[in-house]
Amino acid sequence: MVSAQPIISIKDVTKEFGENVRAVDNVSFDILEGEFFALLGPSGCGKTTLLRMLAGFEIPTEGQIIIDGLPMEGVNPNRRPVNMVFQSYAVFPHMNVERNVGYGLRVTGVPEAEIKTRAQEALALVKLQDFGKRMPSQLSGGQRQRVALARALVKRPKVLLLDEPLSALDAKLREAMQLELVRLQKTVGITFVIVTHDQDEALSMANRIAVMEKGKVKQIAAPADLYEFPNCRFVADFIGKMNLFQGKVAGVAGNQIQIDLKGITRVTVPYSGAAAGDIAVAVRPEKVQLGRSEPAANRIRLRGRVSEVAYFGNESHIYLENATGVPVSVNLTNAARTTTPNVAIGDELWMSWDPADTLVLTE
Ligand code: ATP
Repeated sequence: MVSAQPIISIKDVTKEFGENVRAVDNVSFDILEGEFFALLGPSGCGKTTLLRMLAGFEIPTEGQIIIDGLPMEGVNPNRRPVNMVFQSYAVFPHMNVERNVGYGLRVTGVPEAEIKTRAQEALALVKLQDFGKRMPSQLSGGQRQRVALARALVKRPKVLLLDEPLSALDAKLREAMQLELVRLQKTVGITFVIVTHDQDEALSMANRIAVMEKGKVKQIAAPADLYEFPNCRFVADFIGKMNLFQGKVAGVAGNQIQIDLKGITRVTVPYSGAAAGDIAVAVRPEKVQLGRSEPAANRIRLRGRVSEVAYFGNESHIYLENATGVPVSVNLTNAARTTTPNVAIGDELWMSWDPADTLVLTE
């Protein structure tokens, strides 16, 4: 259950490395108790540095981190109510699974009998209760990852920090482990904070996602809100596929905005708020319809020639260009038991979409 209480508060946090690298740039937000929270962004955006600051492996240059009500300044990693699972799922190769899982308790002097019980509990959580006597070399990649998870969970942290935990696994196993992690998080009920550059991973697992670019948080929202209502070009482009058109505001009236799209045409779309000058318009490929006959006048319409057709089983991605070379991609759901969509390279087609499906992006 996600509560309304923050378990982590990040306040005006900046991290600089040397004079020139600002890895995290004045970031503030809360992570709620019981949340599955994802830090998502391209390589180098600062997500790992932020996670490492939560763990205590990096110290903020400026700002404050509060975890479970306590300021973390001067608090060593092993004294924080968090535990981290690393990308490489570091397990000790010379210890069997049970000893690996119990290690963190053993070094803090927990009695052997309690270690055994808690290690068994943690192994049951990751469905490895029968693997305690195996050595890591006798496990698959996915099983080793579960050992790493059990090892972090055995200490009963308030927050589990996961740094790209699935990136070493192949695609099928990764998807299975995504579901496993969601199940696990629900079972243990603690907060998970995961770092990933894989948007599908973040969208499918997290309650909320912070999208980062160049050290800054661009947007924090639930997966569906990020996908449907991105607040800027970067998020629109980074999450899923998007057709982005550059334009200039021609006028704002009532709840509508008129925009001259470069190389296309003037469009009128729903919009409330002020806007002027350069602006972008976006539409998802699955919202664009293709047709041979002229679409209804109340839709946004343009003509284009098919330049590429890519078949993906359940859907096909069609790439078109209009007469001035503006590219548009369209996703078509393939009907059952047909092998190709009824579209060929070189076809001249109408593209159209509902003005209400248009996103207006001022940033
Ligand atoms: P990736 O997905 O590639 O791991 P990331 O989003 O996690 O990327 P960070 O690892 O947080 O990004 O790095 C953010 C920036 O800070 C990068 O420009 C990186 O080169 C720089 N950086 C990270 N750690 C250090 C360090 N110890 N010393 C100097 N620069 C660093």
